[in-house]
Amino acid sequence: MAGGEEVKTLPALRRLWKKLWQYRVDKGQTVLLIGGGSVLDVGGFAAATWKRGTPFISVPTTLIAQVDAAFGGKVGLNFRQGKNLIGTYADPQAVWVAPDFLRTLPPRELRAGWVECYKQALLSDQSLWSHLQSLSFSTIPSVELLQRLVSIKMRYVEQDPREEQGIRQALNLGHTLGHVWESLSLRTQAPLLHGEAVAMGLIQEILLSAQTNRLPKAVAEAILSKLRAEALMLPLPTFTWSAWEKILLQDKKVRNGQIFLPLLVEIGKVQLVPVSIQALKASVRLYQALVAV
Ligand SMILES: [Zn+2]
Repeated sequence: MAGGEEVKTLPALRRLWKKLWQYRVDKGQTVLLIGGGSVLDVGGFAAATWKRGTPFISVPTTLIAQVDAAFGGKVGLNFRQGKNLIGTYADPQAVWVAPDFLRTLPPRELRAGWVECYKQALLSDQSLWSHLQSLSFSTIPSVELLQRLVSIKMRYVEQDPREEQGIRQALNLGHTLGHVWESLSLRTQAPLLHGEAVAMGLIQEILLSAQTNRLPKAVAEAILSKLRAEALMLPLPTFTWSAWEKILLQDKKVRNGQIFLPLLVEIGKVQLVPVSIQALKASVRLYQALVAV
């Protein structure tokens, strides 16, 4: 099957279920999923729901899937304009990571994958972050680095496997706004890659942290200049504020006109903070001004 967000749909899921039915797959067999994050998401969901759960093994072939999507036990698909609205938790029996797959990626995909690595490093510590500041986003990461990045994610996942305590929300750094740009771009002729949209969201959320004095300006500046140097400060997709707000509020609980999102307060530390829609809009406008320079 093709890859990309377009496969995280009901018709694609139906085709997979049909194959499982045709091949008479039962719980005594194991489904092997080889592909990027979207294929693992929809394939994992198909397996997890087939006969109430058929074992599967994930073989991620993109950088983003090797450090993020394949780990954490979430599978699912998009619905209407909402990302991952349908889904469940299901752990693969194993995740097999072969970095050689990364040599087959187009440079754009590789660079977008590094965004998720970079986000993971921001959640880790000063030394790993500094290391990534000095690495080019066009290189293939070592197995050791991949393992380290995955272990950061798993530290959060293990503390809060079903996302009931808010701990795992830290992993959504950059994703609150990132998902909005991703959804908006899917309606245009120039869809963004997940990592590209997350870079936008990350920069805007870093700007917000700095503007509200939660994050030292020098750290924010260093993050911004790295992402800009890697050509990841991209122009926003065409959008209207009403569409933007509608998507933003789709899966977010609003209390007193505020939504909660994880913001970086120092390298390795994230806080769940209530933010007004106006403040988010202001950081988007700030981003637009920076891109225009
Ligand atoms: Zn992501």
